[in-house]
Amino acid sequence: MNDTHDYDLETLAVRAGTVRSQFNEHSEAMFLTSSFVFRSAAEAAARFKGEQPGPIYARFTNPTVQMMEARLAALEGAERCVAFASGMAAILATVMGLMKAGEHVVASRSIFGSTVQLFSNILGRFGIETTYVSPTDPAEWRAALKPNTKLFFVESPSNPLTEVSDIRALAAIAHEAGAWLAVDNCFCSPALQKPLELGADIVIHSATKYLDGQGRVLGGAVLGSHALMEGVYTFLRTAGPTLSAFNAWVILKGMETLALRMDAHSKNALALAQWLEAQPQVARVLYPGLPSHPQHRLAMAQQKTGGGIVAFDLKGGQDAAWKLIDSTQLLSITANLGDTKTTITHPASTTHSRMTPEQRAAAGIGDGLVRIAVGLEAVADIEADLARGLAG
Ligand SMILES: *Cc1c(COP(=O)(O)O)cnc(C)c1O
Repeated sequence: MNDTHDYDLETLAVRAGTVRSQFNEHSEAMFLTSSFVFRSAAEAAARFKGEQPGPIYARFTNPTVQMMEARLAALEGAERCVAFASGMAAILATVMGLMKAGEHVVASRSIFGSTVQLFSNILGRFGIETTYVSPTDPAEWRAALKPNTKLFFVESPSNPLTEVSDIRALAAIAHEAGAWLAVDNCFCSPALQKPLELGADIVIHSATKYLDGQGRVLGGAVLGSHALMEGVYTFLRTAGPTLSAFNAWVILKGMETLALRMDAHSKNALALAQWLEAQPQVARVLYPGLPSHPQHRLAMAQQKTGGGIVAFDLKGGQDAAWKLIDSTQLLSITANLGDTKTTITHPASTTHSRMTPEQRAAAGIGDGLVRIAVGLEAVADIEADLARGLAG
């Protein structure tokens, strides 16, 4: 496939990035080799100088990883993608590749727990300061700007409350201040939301989630312009948080069904959210696809669907939440998401247990909150599994 610009996402997911070897294999090959042989000393020299394209060493050039990068770049509409061993490695590389000590990050308060630890406890020790603001109030982002602000960092929708951020508005504020906007697009994937088209400069993925989509491997990626990705790639090449060829191959093949899966996750999640709203034991349901969601209109303007994550508050607090979780027979009790299998989590005692009760209350993460990452089972079976625990 030469020119990727005329194809729809469904086609790109199946075809983009494929490079065939001398055997002309139909399905993409997995290159399990750490290094590549040169035909001559001159060829080796030309490769190392960057004068001749071609693989050198698998820390920074593996054809399977490059196929996965090219496919994801096509899906996000990015000039370049750099793959990493995990989503956290991708976030670290974004900061290490683009920032320096003395610079400042403005980040949403509602981001992945390990991302908060990375910004506050690790990057903080190296002179990069982070200010946390509301994901839904662009005015707070403007107010948090400093002369040294270099990066805005947001996840939309957020975890677990599914708050939706106005990506266009945040990009405009960042650009006025000479900063970049990075969007962790993990919850939507490019099948539902394309942050670069909405004005973001950088897209970050935990490929561990919907891109693999079947809970098999870890992976991550950073996407953006050639100019921005040069720094990110240099960090990868030098520091080595490299995606393995095996994991890249699994993700590459997983992406072929991305659009189909995201539609099915979304359809199930919307049906489940509507069903939960009708249950008397449920105080409120948070799902961007529901008209009752506080940012429903914004979500429908920048996302194709509401996505696959549903959160809800039980009137009975933690007792009711734990009872519901423990009564399930089909759902998996795990914090992972983006899997074919539906997972159920109690955020206050797991993913968000490092926050104080006061911080959780301020963030809206109550003791009765349950998060479901809706999988691809029949939605009637998911509802039946929950109905027993709600009634019991
Ligand atoms: C899981 C996750 C990450 C971290 O990704 P890993 O692949 O586990 O390192 C980052 N951001 C979000 C939103 C996630 O859900």
